[in-house]
Amino acid sequence: MTVRLVRDDLSARSVYVAGDRNNRSQHGAQDCPFCPGGMEAPEQVTGPYAFPNRWPPLEPGRCEIVVHGPGHEVDFSRMDVAGARAVIDVWAERGSDLNQRYAPPSVVVFENRGAEAGATVAHPHSQIFALSTLPPLLQNPPQDCPACRESRAELRVGTVRGWSVSVPEALPAPYTLRLVPQEHRTGPDLLDGRERDGLAQALTRGVRSLDALFGRPMPYQLWVAQTASHHLSLTIAGLLRGPDRMRILGAAELATGLYFSPLAPERAADVLREAFAAEGADG
Ligand SMILES: [Zn+2]
Ligand SMILES: [Zn+2]
Repeated sequence: MTVRLVRDDLSARSVYVAGDRNNRSQHGAQDCPFCPGGMEAPEQVTGPYAFPNRWPPLEPGRCEIVVHGPGHEVDFSRMDVAGARAVIDVWAERGSDLNQRYAPPSVVVFENRGAEAGATVAHPHSQIFALSTLPPLLQNPPQDCPACRESRAELRVGTVRGWSVSVPEALPAPYTLRLVPQEHRTGPDLLDGRERDGLAQALTRGVRSLDALFGRPMPYQLWVAQTASHHLSLTIAGLLRGPDRMRILGAAELATGLYFSPLAPERAADVLREAFAAEGADG
């Protein structure tokens, strides 16, 4: 299968085009490919595991899938800290290996949670891309690292063992959490054991906080977009603005790459701070 990186002739948009990817198989709940014994899964599996994406959306070898464990229902909201730590260890190990093989300008780890957020398989999993091009949003990193300073108090949600949790001021979705290590790190593989445990705790508690907002699992898009020049961050973009109202990118946003938010980040932080504190009380 060939994949082409195409640049739009009238704008700065770039598109990876994988011609025959639309034929990839669809799976129902009955034949989950990631459950033990499934098409992509080892028979005996106790934790997370990674394998190359059979239908890579960019050049072959550069895309991997990370299944978060054998449990079909065990997403980050139901995972304990040790379970989430094991997923983070796989992200770190696979990212490091892809870095050595391809020296990519950027490695992106991401998860779409829920069909509404674009997940084609319900079983909790994430993906890793070793990009062959530096994405437009990651060009020109700031000189004086802003993430090494504390964010404004109005945007802070909480602190968990070496990690700051806040709402990014330029929020890409209604309820967005950003997890940032307090020390300057540039990739999951450069986190020490204590920092990985802290991330596991902040991540599971963050997802439970998002779920608490509307009393239902929050469809979200999660990512860690790394380069050698950016302070590491994990973003969880919660897509609901109300119990049944989804964030969809508008025409003006697709046209320009500019986003429009009807919700102030300070207001989102107020709501999330309360939920995050409540989730920490018993978790
Ligand atoms: Zn499954
Ligand atoms: Zn920094």
